[in-house]
Amino acid sequence: MTQHLRIGWLYPELMNIYGDRGNIIVLANRLKWRKIGVEILELGLNFDDKKLNDCDMFLMGGAQDKQQVEVAKDLFKKQKRIKEIIEGGVPGLYICGAYQFLGKYYKDAQGTIIKGLEIFDLYTENPGENENRLIGNISLECSTLGSQLLGFENHGGRTYLGKDLKPLGKVIKGFGNNGEDDTEGSIYKNSFGTYLHGPILPKNPALTDYLIEKALEIKYKEKIKLEKLDDTMEEKARIAIAKRMGITI
Ligand code: GLN
Repeated sequence: MTQHLRIGWLYPELMNIYGDRGNIIVLANRLKWRKIGVEILELGLNFDDKKLNDCDMFLMGGAQDKQQVEVAKDLFKKQKRIKEIIEGGVPGLYICGAYQFLGKYYKDAQGTIIKGLEIFDLYTENPGENENRLIGNISLECSTLGSQLLGFENHGGRTYLGKDLKPLGKVIKGFGNNGEDDTEGSIYKNSFGTYLHGPILPKNPALTDYLIEKALEIKYKEKIKLEKLDDTMEEKARIAIAKRMGITI
């Protein structure tokens, strides 16, 4: 049987900064290179809730506070179904502003509370203009993948995790969730929340393949071992980035 994945790209026009679009491109290419079918479903403002049921994986990028306020109104209407989907183990990658939405709330730079989906046990507060934004290249050690993740972060919000929520990794260089406790991102079921733009998937093919493998396993209910790809170029890029950051990978 030919395998096929349908990827739901949530709010591509409003939630998509610092190259997040590159995540879609890389996901689609790594599937195509393995002759696995791929379809990208763009789920923009006021999309039909039923489309959520058609997706094998979700991707949602980051945004400025202004766009987050706009998206929140529509997203909240879909809270129940999105919660069921994530609880049911459908894989997803939620970056920066999208990651903040998974928690209890995001207090934006003006002090306005944007209610979250309450799926991940976390909350985020942006201390406002008087405090620095957390900006720069970042690397972290991710035990789930057994490798380092590289990326770029730019956020005002500081995210704090509940005690049972697993971080995505431990910061080696950069700020991560809040610049204080060395944690970055979080993992719940098969969903990943992270501050890493960069974009994250081209810089970290291991994470891309992990998401693909999980999505195929859940869809086809069997253990999947993906065909290995030639990642020489990707590895070279990672080494160059690490060198620039003054770290080794
Ligand atoms: N607006 C949010 C913040 O500043 C998210 C930013 C982002 O997605 N890069 O924290």
